Amino acid sequence: MRNALVNSLNIVTVDVAMHTGLARIANLASHFGLPKPERYPSLALGTTEATPLQLAAAYAVFVNGGRRVEPKVIASVSEPAVTSTFNREQPQVISPTTAYMITNMLKAVVDQGTGRAARGAVNGTAIAGKTGTSRDGWFVGYTPNLVCVVWIGCDDNSQLGLTGAEAALPAWTDFVNDAVALRPELGGRTFECPEGIKFIEIDSESGLISTLSCPNRQLIAVTERLAPNFECYNHGNLPDSGGHHEEDTDSSVDRAAVAAQRRTASRESFVSMELRNLKSTRVDVDARGKRTLVNDMR
Ligand SMILES: [Zn+2]
Repeated sequence: MRNALVNSLNIVTVDVAMHTGLARIANLASHFGLPKPERYPSLALGTTEATPLQLAAAYAVFVNGGRRVEPKVIASVSEPAVTSTFNREQPQVISPTTAYMITNMLKAVVDQGTGRAARGAVNGTAIAGKTGTSRDGWFVGYTPNLVCVVWIGCDDNSQLGLTGAEAALPAWTDFVNDAVALRPELGGRTFECPEGIKFIEIDSESGLISTLSCPNRQLIAVTERLAPNFECYNHGNLPDSGGHHEEDTDSSVDRAAVAAQRRTASRESFVSMELRNLKSTRVDVDARGKRTLVNDMR
């Protein structure tokens, strides 16, 4: 799920929605302040229109410890200035640990995924966010103290022809960069981590605790209950070259060897429960090349 979010993989997103239950998701969306979507699998990709303000409020929940945020109109400004930004009395929509895990994943979207153009864009500031592409382009992103949504599209809903990262993200980084330069308190080096979260390095492929032999590893934030209990055994037979396999520093020879090894391992069907679940959704291609999304649950 983390990898799907980071790389905007729609098929996995729909599959997660089917496993979670469409009614449950529709209800939760409304608790976030979004319009309640119809219960179709495509709701996971965004079938119901929302305004940038609604999306900003919804994403603010993740950085507000899981509590609902109601946008307020500023009708006038007077002295002394009111400095409170979040209303702590709002209802709890999701637990603080769930909110933090989402932020941790959305931070990976910026660090290594579809939003990576924003990585390091605001000096010394942690950024989490999500791109969105349809006929228009979206970027929703936040620092520990500021949420900003940028929508770029045509009034007549005609095709923009740009992704969210191409269309909306540049405006987002411009604005947030200037905002934080002007008022540094809107930035923040790290997102506040609630109690009950632990950081574990996993193998990106199996989702299990990484070993030194695992070629792709990532540090993730999880609760005790969701943390993997076993070490990865897909790459256990690989010789440890002694160095760290950082994604961008592997030599191509190492990569080829690792990929071959990995293909063998996956044929031996050591597949974790999560990956097995993902297999229930697939894309079938017929003789004419038409692609159809197929899920065993339907
Ligand atoms: Zn591994």
